[in-house]
Amino acid sequence: MNNVPRSNRKHITIFGKTNSGKSSLFNAILGTDTAIISDKEGTTTDPVVKSMELIPYGPIVLTDTAGLFDKTELGEMREKKTIEIMERTDFAIYTIDVNDYDGLEYEKLKNLFEKYKIPYIVTITKSDLLGEATIEGFLRLFDNACTVSVNDRNSVGDFKEMLARLLKESENEDENLIRGLVEEGGNVLLVIPIDSEAPKGRLILPQVQMIRDCLDCGIRCCVTTVEGIKKSLEEYKRIDLVITDSQVFKKVDEILPKDIKLTSFSILMARQKGDIKRLTEGVKAFDELDDGDTILIAESCTHTKNHEDIGTVKIPNGLKKVTGKELNFEFSNGHDYPEDIEKYKMVIHCGGCMMTSREMRARIRKNEEKSVPITNYGITLAYISGILERSIEILR
Ligand code: SF4
Repeated sequence: MNNVPRSNRKHITIFGKTNSGKSSLFNAILGTDTAIISDKEGTTTDPVVKSMELIPYGPIVLTDTAGLFDKTELGEMREKKTIEIMERTDFAIYTIDVNDYDGLEYEKLKNLFEKYKIPYIVTITKSDLLGEATIEGFLRLFDNACTVSVNDRNSVGDFKEMLARLLKESENEDENLIRGLVEEGGNVLLVIPIDSEAPKGRLILPQVQMIRDCLDCGIRCCVTTVEGIKKSLEEYKRIDLVITDSQVFKKVDEILPKDIKLTSFSILMARQKGDIKRLTEGVKAFDELDDGDTILIAESCTHTKNHEDIGTVKIPNGLKKVTGKELNFEFSNGHDYPEDIEKYKMVIHCGGCMMTSREMRARIRKNEEKSVPITNYGITLAYISGILERSIEILR
């Protein structure tokens, strides 16, 4: 369970006014003293992030944010950081101390939850210090509210159980990489090159996830290298879909009979993580590129030599060759995604396996708001290889 990557965990974030009991609740859920607690306003400065297993739901990432809307010197900076966290939050807990409740501030936060489409629960903390009538009066103010006392183990236990149930209810069926593309009982062939660029002794996350998602959907999946494709086709009488690493797209396209559908891990990852319609539309921007245009290549992690090679070498060189234009490229990594995205002609994003779909969608939305086209690595490599149509046919 500890090996589940953060991108595959539900991200639950505790928001609320300074001193509303966020850090105490965070520690109570974790059963530790990870977040520093003090009565002094603004104790939590940077968000505190912890991975845990929430029984019976499963792996989650729990984040304790800085207090919102406080009047201290660092308040504005903290607030900005909190909003950034909101972009990758799947479920929010909004804590309220009834002795310091401010309806206007609640409305402000509620509007943000609605803007980012985040399901949330209002949580009245310190309930052991309140009378029944006060609690009932406050509960009536909200559509979805509960109480908790961190001084009462049963109360914390009930809260965690309720949280697990709400998370289950807010789950999205679309998170499976293959569901809806191949029917139960179908056959899928995965092509994974084992060359010098492949990590030693293991498969990468999208490959492992694809195998698991096929099994969850009752789809048989055969894994082979480029060299093994022909033999696999002979052995399997029917292959419904071939999914390849984007780096060998062209080779696989040449080997595979044209009546067999072909796509890439990266394209299916983009379908699961983001708005695939928007990403495939983004490809039209390639035809409008001009000399001197600047393209942003964005990766959501900071490692993987082979991806750097795709982002910094293969895509820039391939695009210059195919378009015949003198293009400029800039690069971003990790959680840093430029605010001034409008200075780019377009963005080419990696598959985003290290980020949540919510975070990826927030990036796509940012581009949309500023009318900057965005597409991804897999789609771009298919375009460069001249097999774009074939590779996205399965999505139509
Ligand atoms: S660059 Fe993107 S797709 Fe590649 S490993 Fe990192 S997050 Fe995943």
